[in-house]
Amino acid sequence: MFHKVLIANRGEIAVRIIRACREMGIATVAVYSEADKDALHAMLADEAICIGPAKSSQSYLNMESILSATVAMKADAIHPGFGFLSENSKFVTLCEKCNITFIGPSADVINKMGNKAEARNTMIQAGVPVVPGSEEPIYTFEEGEKIADAIGYPVIVKAASGGGGKGMRIVHKKEEFHSNFLTAQRESVLAFGDDTMYVEKYIEHPRHIEFQILADNYGNVIHLGERDCSIQRRHQKLIEEAPSVALSDELRQKMGEAAIKAAKAAGYTNAGTIEFLLDKYNNFYFIEMNTRVQVEHGVTEIVTGIDIIKEQIRIAAGLPLSVTQEDVCIKGHAIECRINAENPEKNFAPCPGKINNIHFPGGNGIRIDSAIYNGYHIPPHYDSMILKLIVFDKNRELAIQKMNSALGELVIEGIETNLEFQYEVLNHEKFKKGETNTHFIQTYFSK
Ligand code: ADP
Repeated sequence: MFHKVLIANRGEIAVRIIRACREMGIATVAVYSEADKDALHAMLADEAICIGPAKSSQSYLNMESILSATVAMKADAIHPGFGFLSENSKFVTLCEKCNITFIGPSADVINKMGNKAEARNTMIQAGVPVVPGSEEPIYTFEEGEKIADAIGYPVIVKAASGGGGKGMRIVHKKEEFHSNFLTAQRESVLAFGDDTMYVEKYIEHPRHIEFQILADNYGNVIHLGERDCSIQRRHQKLIEEAPSVALSDELRQKMGEAAIKAAKAAGYTNAGTIEFLLDKYNNFYFIEMNTRVQVEHGVTEIVTGIDIIKEQIRIAAGLPLSVTQEDVCIKGHAIECRINAENPEKNFAPCPGKINNIHFPGGNGIRIDSAIYNGYHIPPHYDSMILKLIVFDKNRELAIQKMNSALGELVIEGIETNLEFQYEVLNHEKFKKGETNTHFIQTYFSK
């Protein structure tokens, strides 16, 4: 097992990883930017080292700085968390060169799955259903329009290197194709430095269903069931739950098998997520693979009792999975609400600042993953997600009741948050009935 792990991240996920390491008896090193000198992760780790100025490009994305810190602190592995360098194959290669274990998949697999067009092709070859669309990368709007004509509108134009909802445009009719294609491509060039695009059928009112995968270095690949992440705002997830009300045992088994097939086709190792869209006829389509731990991993941990971060560390250390597919048993229902420092009145603009009063709910079946505390200044430089409130109960109805109670007790003063908004979504009749899809927020909550 590793002797010391450096966590190349910040915020709640860094704290989550530090805790897992501590439970496993592994020493931890936190890295922090100048803006994060008072951050919880830097205080909780056994050791902490400053890696540069506030700007991510000069700190949390600064490969040289992070690798030098790892060598200087004598850590033997790096956990990247999510975001930042977690899906950067160049960083993984550099880790290998420095004899540092990257807790995640290989550079090759990250490359293969990081390019969505290539991932699509890998899945087509493996017989995993994908959304109908282009099979070759597209660079000009003329090529794209031909595909769109062939599959029929509406279509969605996507950047091969896309992520976080960027470089993506829905096109409802032919007349709008030209401008939408160019806008998405321009966005992709700006954000990812890549003009490679592809076009696929736009699935109307789908659910976003993703499967958690664990794969070790000995060919064992298992899934830990699904998460329903249909509640999204501008393609960003807001509420996630496990299991999904939309899946029968039979469908779960079918999708789970497809997810395992997908992970095997990618040659995957470590924890990963296979994302599918599920249409109203129960057809499911692969959309992408995330080659890292997800924000919403906690809901899966709760319903399966499996610690995904610890499994990641074990796998990277060369140990076999601690569970088999037969051991995986999904029990009860878990829901997560992402609490963001943002102002719903101002179109959800980020709202950093000082927290001057805080109270966390607790009790049976309540989990909070967060890195904020009383008096903490939320810096303006990073993601606005500040807390994940996760609840667990016997069934969905009870879990919703518990979330209501927990949201009611949660106090975060000094900044604006989306807490009230989460409360409204949770109490919407359609949400309570489980009648959700990725357009839920847009349909019921756009002013
Ligand atoms: P990103 O990597 O930027 O998050 P994804 O490919 O995962 O992009 O898509 C994000 C979200 O966009 C999905 O969860 C879904 O809501 C919507 N979406 C993506 N592809 C399609 C599609 N073909 N049809 C309908 N909605 C889609």
